[in-house]
Amino acid sequence: MTDETEADMTGISPRRRPKPNIEEIGGRKLKPSTLMMGHGFDPSLSEGSLKQPIFATSTFVFPNAAAGKRHFEGITGKRPGGAEGLVYSRFNGPNQEILEDRLGVWEEAEEALAFSSGMSAIATLFLAMVNPGDTIIHSGPLYAATETLIARILGKFGVKFLDFPADASPEEIEKVMRQAGDSRVALIYLESPANPTNALVDVEAVAKLRDSVFADKEEKPPIAIDNTFLGPLWQKPLHHGADIVVYSLTKYAGGHSDLVAGGVLGTRKALDPIRAMRNTIGTICDPNTAWMLCRSLETLELRMSRAGENAAKVCAFLKDHPKVEKVGYLGFLKDDAQYDIYKRHCTGAGSTFSLYLKGGEKEAFAFLDALKIAKLAVSLGGTETLASAPAAMTHISVPDARKKALGITDNLVRISIGVEDADDLIADFDAALKAV
Ligand SMILES: *Cc1c(COP(=O)(O)O)cnc(C)c1O
Repeated sequence: MTDETEADMTGISPRRRPKPNIEEIGGRKLKPSTLMMGHGFDPSLSEGSLKQPIFATSTFVFPNAAAGKRHFEGITGKRPGGAEGLVYSRFNGPNQEILEDRLGVWEEAEEALAFSSGMSAIATLFLAMVNPGDTIIHSGPLYAATETLIARILGKFGVKFLDFPADASPEEIEKVMRQAGDSRVALIYLESPANPTNALVDVEAVAKLRDSVFADKEEKPPIAIDNTFLGPLWQKPLHHGADIVVYSLTKYAGGHSDLVAGGVLGTRKALDPIRAMRNTIGTICDPNTAWMLCRSLETLELRMSRAGENAAKVCAFLKDHPKVEKVGYLGFLKDDAQYDIYKRHCTGAGSTFSLYLKGGEKEAFAFLDALKIAKLAVSLGGTETLASAPAAMTHISVPDARKKALGITDNLVRISIGVEDADDLIADFDAALKAV
């Protein structure tokens, strides 16, 4: 962001900021839920409009030729300090910048970048980091498209990978890190909790091991983590040793199942190459989506808190039901290594969990078909409750042996709880279980 004096001297920023953001009052640091209503936007720059307009434009006007030159000197590195102001909508725009300022607030990240989808964020991150011959070390399982991207697409360009199970012990993780040998490790990529196992990765242990295993390397590989399932409310991995956090904003952040978008958070240094790659290939989200996400972020804490409370009530009901074999819900962890990771990394159990019914596909399908409030759809993190059968749907092409190892059985129903009335949801699940 350009400060006002400099902007006036250079005459370059089309978005001057007469009023600075208010981030604390009387020494009290304001909470994200407060900052979401106005942070990063000054109404006086937009005719006093309380809400930011949607800036539908592909390009931005320079005040004079010298300002145009100064801008391009900045983005090409001829002048230190980088770009100032806005120039072309493939690079950035006011709505996306406001969104990025607000996204960063949740995890106290120095910077954030907005993308057109979770997968375009992840793909842009990978493209910015890896060279042929490099290795990516990752936890497993990952979101299916992320696994495809690493193994099949980056594999075509000579990028290798090594993986460890999400719930691996520090000893197992260290062993996998050492297997990289002389190959340059470009990135350590995590996803926690893993889908659909809900297994948690010990991010603190991964960070410690990275520092010791790669101590003699000139550059230690950065740690990136997909925080879609618990972030930004219940898990803040930048505080536990991760360098970069990735989001599918399609899920809890968007929260209304009406948009697709992605985000990347971290230090300016970590994000600079990712921003440069995004500028080149154009994976930024559009202004309308950025505007919708700003609206969503205003209620993020309300929505996630309510969904989390609902999930706790629904899971308590399902836990001892005679037709239920097991409920894979983070709130039920206790007294083991996973619980220890949970206590250190998470402040809530989320609202997405695995329900194992007694029986197989027949019982799972009967249950899904009998639900009346919960909708039968993939995805998660929306205001409405969704249910699906991973073995027959999202994970149908996973080989049988791997399905078994991951606990993706035919009796598994994946559920994302929304913000409906909890007792209505319990009535829906109760009736659907009776129909099994
Ligand atoms: C949905 C999802 C993605 C992909 O995000 P899109 O917005 O669909 O591209 C990546 N990671 C996780 C954990 C997800 O749930």
